[in-house]
Amino acid sequence: MRRTLGALVLAALALSQAAARAQQPPPVDGVVRLLLRLEQLMQAGDPEAYMDLLSAVADRRFARDASRVLISPGITRAVIRERDRAPLEGTLPGDGYRLMIEVLAERGSRARIETWRLDIRRVPTETSEDEWRVAGQQSLTSVDGLHRLALNPSKVYRARGLVVRSEDLEIRLPAGHVFVADTAEGPTAAVLLAGDGSTMSFRPAPEAEREQVRIYAGSEAIETRVEDVFLRFSPSEFASRFSSGSLTEAAPDPVLFRRADAVFREHVAQSFSLDLADLSRETWSLPPAPGDLLAEIRTRRFQTLTYSKSASDAEDISLFDRRRRRNISVYPSAARLAAGVGRFDEDARAPFDVSHYALDVSFDPARLWLDGRALLHLRIRADAINNLTLRLAENLTVRSIYSNEFGRLLSLRVRGQNNVIVNLNGYATRGTQITLDVAYSGRLEPVEPDREALAPQFPQDRPEITESLSFPGETSLLYSTRTFWYPQGASSDYATAVMHLTVPEAYQVAASGELAPGSPVVVPGPERQPSARRYTFEARQPVRYLACLISRLVRVSARTVSLVEALAGLASAGAGVLPAEPLPGGSFNGELELVVEANPRQLARGRQAEAVAADVMSYYASIVGDSPYPDLTLALIEKELPGGHSPAYLAVLYQPLPTAATNWSSDPAAFISFPEYFIAHELAHQWWGQAVGWRTYHDQWISEGFAQYFSALYAKKRRGNALFGEMIRRMAKWAREQGKAGPVSLGYRLGHIQGDTRIFRAIVYNKSAVVLHMLHRLIGDDAFFRGIRRLYFGARFSKVGTDDVRAAFEKESGQDLKRFFGSWIGGSGTPVVDFSWARVADGAAPEVALRIEQRGKDSEFPVTVTLQYAGGATEAAQVVVRERVAEFRLPLKGTLKDVTLNRDGLTPLEIVGR
Ligand SMILES: [Zn+2]
Repeated sequence: MRRTLGALVLAALALSQAAARAQQPPPVDGVVRLLLRLEQLMQAGDPEAYMDLLSAVADRRFARDASRVLISPGITRAVIRERDRAPLEGTLPGDGYRLMIEVLAERGSRARIETWRLDIRRVPTETSEDEWRVAGQQSLTSVDGLHRLALNPSKVYRARGLVVRSEDLEIRLPAGHVFVADTAEGPTAAVLLAGDGSTMSFRPAPEAEREQVRIYAGSEAIETRVEDVFLRFSPSEFASRFSSGSLTEAAPDPVLFRRADAVFREHVAQSFSLDLADLSRETWSLPPAPGDLLAEIRTRRFQTLTYSKSASDAEDISLFDRRRRRNISVYPSAARLAAGVGRFDEDARAPFDVSHYALDVSFDPARLWLDGRALLHLRIRADAINNLTLRLAENLTVRSIYSNEFGRLLSLRVRGQNNVIVNLNGYATRGTQITLDVAYSGRLEPVEPDREALAPQFPQDRPEITESLSFPGETSLLYSTRTFWYPQGASSDYATAVMHLTVPEAYQVAASGELAPGSPVVVPGPERQPSARRYTFEARQPVRYLACLISRLVRVSARTVSLVEALAGLASAGAGVLPAEPLPGGSFNGELELVVEANPRQLARGRQAEAVAADVMSYYASIVGDSPYPDLTLALIEKELPGGHSPAYLAVLYQPLPTAATNWSSDPAAFISFPEYFIAHELAHQWWGQAVGWRTYHDQWISEGFAQYFSALYAKKRRGNALFGEMIRRMAKWAREQGKAGPVSLGYRLGHIQGDTRIFRAIVYNKSAVVLHMLHRLIGDDAFFRGIRRLYFGARFSKVGTDDVRAAFEKESGQDLKRFFGSWIGGSGTPVVDFSWARVADGAAPEVALRIEQRGKDSEFPVTVTLQYAGGATEAAQVVVRERVAEFRLPLKGTLKDVTLNRDGLTPLEIVGR
C-alpha cells in the first residue's frame, strides 16, 4: 500500500470513492451507533473497553489482540466510515452483517488509515432499538506514516552560502532564510526564501536531455535566478541536505514567515499527499523515501520548475514546467544506468498480468454515459502483493469490485490520475490467478488516441478555428487507448477478450474483435423506452488494448479475402520476400474477413476503400508471411481533419468534409500524390503496433516507422518506383529539417516542449521510415525481408524494443548494426558531410576517387553516387559510409563530367564544402 502511494510523486491523491458515497449518508441505525461507540473508545485510548462491545460468540483472545492494534494510546481523533455491508454467514436475515470499515486514527499531527473487516450480530434488547455487538474482526490493510505538515513559525534559519544538491541539480543561496515543517523523525519539508544572487543550475548528463534543455532554455544547462524553493525530502536526511555551517538559527520574523507559509501552502498538497475525502478534509502527506527529493523552484525566467528524483520511477530524474505542463527532462540517474535498469520496462515491473477481459458495457452516446461490468482474469507476477493498481478513467465511479478468491474488495481512487487501487484483503503470491468483477459507470468523453493514431493537431497556430467551429458531420465516439473506458492493467499487455456492447438502436458499433454470429441483436427497451442494439465482439487473438467506435454506420461490404493467392503469386514470382521455410509461430490460415462500414454520406468512399484495403492486406501478408488478426473492420467516419486510428481488428479512417479549412499539405504525414496513404499506413498497424507492440515510449518508432515504411512499399507496388522515391525523399527532407529536435528514441517527447506535433511525425514516422529504407539498402532485399519476418514471428503478440529490431536484422544480414541503430535511432540530427572527387589514372583503367568526410557525429549510411559522363549518360552506384573519412574508387565507362552525391535524395544528408 505504502509503496504504491509513495510512487505517485507528482500527484495529489484521493483515497476512496468517498466523495460519491458521502452523498448518501448511512441511516442512523444500530450499526452506526456501534461504530460511533468504537470511535469513542479509540479516542479514549482504552483497549479493554472494546471487550464490552463483543457478542457472546466472539473469540475473546483474538478480540483482545485486535483491540490493541486498533485502540493504541495517544489517539487524538478517530474517524470510522462504513464502506460495505453484506449479510453475515450463519445468521438469519437482518441479524448479522459483515462490514468493511475504513478507520483514520490521528495522533496529533500523525495519522494512520486502516481497513478492517467487522462481523457484527444483533443482540436482543428490551427496547425497540437495535443493539449490535462485534462477533469477529480482522485488520485488512493499513497506510501508516501520514503527516499533517505545517511550517514551524517559531524556527527560522539564516542561510549563508547554502547549497542544496541532487543529481544534476544545484540550488545556491549566498544568503536567505529557511523555514521547516517538522515530524517526530525530523523535518521533511522546507521553504527557502532566496536572497540576492541566489541561483539554480540544472545540467542533465545524457546528451539527448541536454538537447531538450537547449530547446527549452536556449542553452544546454538551465542557469537562472531563484526567488523561493519548496523542498520535500526524507526526515532522516535534513542534516545531510543542509550542511551545518550554512544554517544558523535566527529570531522569528512574522513577515518572513507569512511569505514562507504562502509558498508552503501553494505546494504542500501537490505531491506526496493524500486527500482522504470523508475521512478527513485536511491535507495528509507521506514522507519521501531516503534519496528522493522534490523541489518546486520559483525562478524569475521560467516561473516554477519542478525537479524530482524518485527511485520508484525507472526514469528517476525529471524536470517539469508546471505552468506550461511540459516535461523538459525525464531520464535515468547515473546509478540507474550503471545498474543496467536504465530503460523503463513497464511489463518487467508489472506486478500482475491480465490474460482475458470480459466486458459488458452499455453506452448512452447522447449523454456520453457508460455503464459497465468488467471481468478481468489476471495472474500475479510479483512475489507477494496485497493490492493491485488498475487503470480506469478518473471520471468513472467504481460501484463494486468482487473477486471469487477474496470476496468483496475495497478500492481506493487516486485523484488526478486514472488509477484505482484495489485492496486484496490479504496477500496474493506469484502465480496466483485472480478473477476481478468490476462494476463501474460515469460520464466519459473519449480522448483522442495517441497510439497508432495519425491525428494532426492543426492548423498548428490557429487552434481557435478547430475549437470554435461546430462540426457539421456525423458524430462518432471512439473509446480506445488513453481513454481508459474499461478497468485494465497498468501497462497495455496482450490479452484476449469478449465484449458485449449495447447502444441505443439508432447507433452502430465497430470494435476490436470479430462480430459474433447472430450479433447484433435488437433488445426491446423497458416500457416506452427505445430499443437497444447489443453487439458481441470476440478478440480471440491477443490484443494490446480494446477499442470501440460508436456512430451511425452503414455496412458497405463484407467479404472473405483470400490472402493465399497473393502469397503464392509472390513466391512463384521469386520476389525474394518469402522465407525458404516457414518460420515458427505462423498461424495464418490465408483468409481475412473484411468488413467496411461508413457514415451514410461516406458510402461511395467506403466502396473505393474496400478494394484498396483488400489489396493492402494481401500485400502486407505476402511480405510478412502472416496476417495476425482474422477479421478486420474498416470504418470511415467524418472528422474535421484527415487521419486515422488502428486498434487490433479495426481501422478507423477519418474523412474530412469538403468544407474543412485545412492546410494539410504542409504536414510531415501528408502524401498528396498517394491517395491510398492513410489506408496503407493504418492497416500496417495490424502488424506493427498491434501484433508486434512497442515496449516503452522510446520504442514507439517501431510501430510508426514500420507502418510508414510499409505504406511506402505499398505505394511502390501500386503506383510504381517514382512515387516510392518521391515519398522517401519527402520523408528524408523532413528528417533532415527536424532531426535536430531530438533522436527517434525520444518518442512522444519530440515536439512536446515546442508544442508542435509535426516534429513528432517528422521524426517518429518519417525519419524512422527512412532509417528502415537505408537499412534495406544496406543489407539488401533478401536479408531485409527475412529480418522483418524474424522480428515479426519472434515478437508476435508481445512487445519489442529497438535492440530486438537490431538483433533480428543482424541475424539475417550477418552485419554488426550497432552503430547504424545507435546513430540513427539513438542520436539526433542527420549527417553533415564534405564531399569531393577526382579522376585518377594510376591503374590499368581510369577511375574516379571519391572522398566523403563526416563532420560532427559519426554515422553509418548508404548513399547513392551518380556519375555523369560527357554525352549525357549517367551511372548510379551505392556506397556505404562507415568511417569518419570514407574513400572509394569507381571504374569509369567514359569521360567523366561530374559526380553528385545523394542525387536521389534517399539519404537524409547535408553536403557542405566543394
Ligand atoms: Zn500510425
